[in-house]
Amino acid sequence: MTTPNSPSPRLPPLDFNDEENLNVVDHGVLFVDEQGVLGYYNAFCQKLFSLEYPSPQPVNYIELLSAWSDTQGLSRLWFIELNKAIAERQLHYTQVKHDGDTLEFKHQPLPSGGFVHCIYNITRKVRQEQLSALQYSQLRTMIDAMPCFVSLLNTNLQFVIANQYYERHLGISRSLIEGSYVNDILPPTLKERHMNLLHKALLGETQHFDDLGPSEDSPIKFVHGAYIPCFDQHHNVTGIVDITYDTTDQRNQEENLRFLAERDPLTGLFNRRKVMECLDTEIVRANRQSSPLSVAVLDLDHFKNVNDTWGHAAGDLVLKEFALLCQQQIRKLDCLGRIGGEEFFLIMGNTDQQEAKFVLERILSVLRHHRFNWKQIEIRITCSAGLATWTADQTNQQLYSQADNALYQAKNQGRDQIVIAT
Ligand code: GH3
Ligand code: MG
Ligand code: MG
Repeated sequence: MTTPNSPSPRLPPLDFNDEENLNVVDHGVLFVDEQGVLGYYNAFCQKLFSLEYPSPQPVNYIELLSAWSDTQGLSRLWFIELNKAIAERQLHYTQVKHDGDTLEFKHQPLPSGGFVHCIYNITRKVRQEQLSALQYSQLRTMIDAMPCFVSLLNTNLQFVIANQYYERHLGISRSLIEGSYVNDILPPTLKERHMNLLHKALLGETQHFDDLGPSEDSPIKFVHGAYIPCFDQHHNVTGIVDITYDTTDQRNQEENLRFLAERDPLTGLFNRRKVMECLDTEIVRANRQSSPLSVAVLDLDHFKNVNDTWGHAAGDLVLKEFALLCQQQIRKLDCLGRIGGEEFFLIMGNTDQQEAKFVLERILSVLRHHRFNWKQIEIRITCSAGLATWTADQTNQQLYSQADNALYQAKNQGRDQIVIAT
């Protein structure tokens, strides 16, 4: 026994080896008997309380702690709590700031009476916790500020973190999303495709995707996103980051641009470039399917008179209304474009000469009987058409020229008629 000053015989006996060992551990260990007298204390405690070992006189531990606490300028609160735990013989942990460090006093009553205190320096642990709490909250702030879906999934495809954007646009609270399986959160329409992509991402390859928005009621109609795998240092996939953003505006703009690039602004019909593109496509189809293909050039008769008599705006009205009338007489699959001022080009796929002539006759007849209403004035106009039917090996230009020549003939023969190219 090497414990000083006749400590309580009920304290666990320590031999020399215990002391040697306890002096090298990096936390404090001290024993106090049921009278409150300090028994054994290791090197850590000796340094902490500036107390040599063994102490020349019996030391009342509570008094020692109280004096120490005062010299350290510590709040009395920790001490009151500790005293209460000692009195009630409760296991108790108290944290104390000391010299910039955080010490944790673990108070443990001994069955024999008295108690043992272990004093741990938990500074690093506390810093680490503070740091991760800080990083976590910074991460949250960061992803919440992002105007897109951002989430982290684990390898079981459960949401670890999902940002506020998820909450807002899926209408599900974040606390429900986090911890849930992706399979349970994904809208049914997107499920199969995205589970496939996610399983591929789990194999280590980033998956990019374009898709529809989360639901029909959502203002998000289109999205672009990526599932990006995260790796550990051994290149094992540890999770997936999902970043998906709303591309509705972008798509609409692209759609508008495409519309503007392909359409005639006055009538909304295809423009010359687009209609010629359609002709190429139709020729390829006719060639492949050995199906008939007819085209017609239509030109309003004496249209200049409309402008000259009632003004340009009246002319515009006639052009727009004529475009509508034509559209009502053709099939959805037919392609109609405005290729000049009052000149239109009609492509009728899978239509032979006879059928095409029939369509044109209908258009001419409807127009002949139509009254364009311009400021209570009734305007009447007719139109002429040149019709050509594609023959094998004919180029788009040759076919168009044939129809155009036929139109020229129709004009020369007195207008308001159809001439079939020979
Ligand atoms: P024809 O029967 O021989 O085809 O005679 P036309 O008067 O219809 O033909 P012409 O080529 O002499 O005149 C076409 C007119 O169309 C001239 C032009 O000012 C007018 N025009 C062209 N584009 C537009 C347009 O976008 N709006 C209006 N209002 N007029 C247009
Ligand atoms: Mg004309
Ligand atoms: Mg013309």
